[in-house]
Amino acid sequence: QPDRETLTWQGFGDASRALTQSIVDSGWMPELIVAIARGGLLPAGAISYAIGVKAMGTMNVEFYTGVGQTLTEPQLLPPLMDVSAMDGKRVLVVDDVADSGSTLKMVMDMINAHGLSLDGHTTVKAEARSAVIYKKPRSVIEPDYMWRETDKWINFPWSTLPVIQRSQDNDTKRV
Ligand code: 5GP
Repeated sequence: QPDRETLTWQGFGDASRALTQSIVDSGWMPELIVAIARGGLLPAGAISYAIGVKAMGTMNVEFYTGVGQTLTEPQLLPPLMDVSAMDGKRVLVVDDVADSGSTLKMVMDMINAHGLSLDGHTTVKAEARSAVIYKKPRSVIEPDYMWRETDKWINFPWSTLPVIQRSQDNDTKRV
């Protein structure tokens, strides 16, 4: 498929290491990594190990229902993460791709809107930065860290194969 960008499992591993290298080289170390589920789960896990940060959270957002098919706005789904757990922390928000960028923007806006300055200078606001494997040219948000830019539809290794069905010869296996 010439109009597609295919990321292999090995390519994903290499991309995660390279993306993490650029974060480390920037001199900014996250204290907490937040994955945007589900697309950001595998990249966030890979970055967590590569960068050596164990604290992780997830925010579950749904936007795409199929190839090029979207809801009108990204929807935040349960279970909801307590955003106050990010107060005062350096937070790295990770997703697979910023396409329209709406999903990433919604999450970044939510985190940035949360912190409040109690007396004008004591701030508990999280310092959030974003990292994606891919960015598309039309994205409304410029991620702080990215591996590559493409305008193609991307096939990720975790979502390319069909969902596994029960094997045909299952009658003889345990129920
Ligand atoms: P956005 O809000 O930036 O338009 O995209 C939100 C989500 O849609 C992404 O995190 C990703 O899960 C999915 N998505 C967007 N573009 C692509 C693509 O090219 N390929 C795949 N597999 N998913 C995509």
